Amino acid sequence: MSSIYDLHTHSTASDGTLSPVELVRHARDIGVQVLALTDHDTTDGIDAAQQEAAAVGITLIPGVEISTSWGGGTIHLLGLGIDRGCRDLQQGLAGLRETRELRAEKIGRGLERSGISGAYAGAKRFATGAHIGRAHFARHLVEAGHAESMRKAFQKHLKVGRPGYVAAQWAPLEDVVNWIHTAGGQALIAHPACYSFTRSKMRRLLAEFVEMGGDGMEVVSASYNRDDIANMARHAIEFELLASVGSDYHGPENQWIEVGRLPPLPSGVKAVWQGWSGDRLRLSA
Ligand code: AMP
Ligand code: MN
Ligand code: MN
Ligand code: MN
Repeated sequence: MSSIYDLHTHSTASDGTLSPVELVRHARDIGVQVLALTDHDTTDGIDAAQQEAAAVGITLIPGVEISTSWGGGTIHLLGLGIDRGCRDLQQGLAGLRETRELRAEKIGRGLERSGISGAYAGAKRFATGAHIGRAHFARHLVEAGHAESMRKAFQKHLKVGRPGYVAAQWAPLEDVVNWIHTAGGQALIAHPACYSFTRSKMRRLLAEFVEMGGDGMEVVSASYNRDDIANMARHAIEFELLASVGSDYHGPENQWIEVGRLPPLPSGVKAVWQGWSGDRLRLSA
């Protein structure tokens, strides 16, 4: 079940635990040949990852996972093959990081009110200079004994309805599609099967996304089961969206998810890399 492509991974530039260089070396050791680094709302890790990819002989696709707001909730969009020098994209990402920072302070205060003190400082320590996210809070909550696992930390403290949940206003979905396109990238809906949408809400999202010019969706993700993959493949075919494959790897601490360990794309879908010319694949050479 080892895949040549893994187009969704995180490093210490956001909430992953391997540095960009460590991540690339690890992917190379596993046998991944084309890796996208897609940190949350930042492209900070891409330079280092690209240099290392060139050194170890794999292809690094410059990517990003962007927080957007749609339908009263959060949708993550992947931008693949982006030019990280694009001003529109960088201005947009800078705004989202500000939202992230203000949200983190509010999360800290929410947890404070529920009797957990020092969570903001603790999360900040786990972020080691990166832009703070809920995964950093979760790691701190586990370390401080407030939860037995990351999963439990989200369940008890951080997910919708819990004291550490703060609804954030991210960028509108359509704006983010435009930033990605202006940066020369392809826009894909990250892990669509994970939003727990009804079938009709999923169809509304995909229809609107296509209308905005969106390019594709993740049909294979490490957190999907077989039904999710079959379901997402049917949606990709119906809405004529390109299909992508990504582990959403965050580091070796999560023993269930490994870089590049992914089932193949089902037949009938069009892989996002089908249209990639030498150009997109030569980026790290
Ligand atoms: P944020 O963008 O800061 O709201 O954080 C979202 C991130 O939190 C995801 O990318 C995952 O890394 C992590 N996350 C979300 N839900 C869970 C969960 N149930 N268990 C572990 N990590 C999670
Ligand atoms: Mn994450
Ligand atoms: Mn995501
Ligand atoms: Mn991700």
